[in-house]
Amino acid sequence: MERHLADDGRVFIDMPDDPARNPCLDCGACCQHFRVSFYGGESDAHPGGFVPDHLIVPINPVMACMKGTETGGAPCVALTGVVGLGTGCSIYANRPTPCREFPVWMADGSPNPACQRLRPMIGKPPLPWQPPEY
Ligand code: SF4
Repeated sequence: MERHLADDGRVFIDMPDDPARNPCLDCGACCQHFRVSFYGGESDAHPGGFVPDHLIVPINPVMACMKGTETGGAPCVALTGVVGLGTGCSIYANRPTPCREFPVWMADGSPNPACQRLRPMIGKPPLPWQPPEY
């Protein structure tokens, strides 16, 4: 898991391709649970935006969400594969900010409490702790 400090101080997360180091690859619970909402300016229809506009639904004049997640409890349109078995994000390089900011492990090595809550809902075991990053 790599953390990147954005210019504005936000911390973005990139997960590795190696299944041994990336529990998201056979999970996907978060991508079908939350309403994935973000600033509408992240749409690639706007200058500097990057999220494919045809995969977005406006919520109000300022905010948008990923199609499929409007009410929560349903998969994001960009989620590929089968939740709990093998999943991916078809727009990983262009995913919106909440997806970039969602850590599987916190800086102290503890699993994200949201992962621990959601994984049992799809039959996955809790995540173990990892050594702290600092
Ligand atoms: S954009 Fe990708 S990472 Fe974000 S919720 Fe959709 S499938 Fe998951």
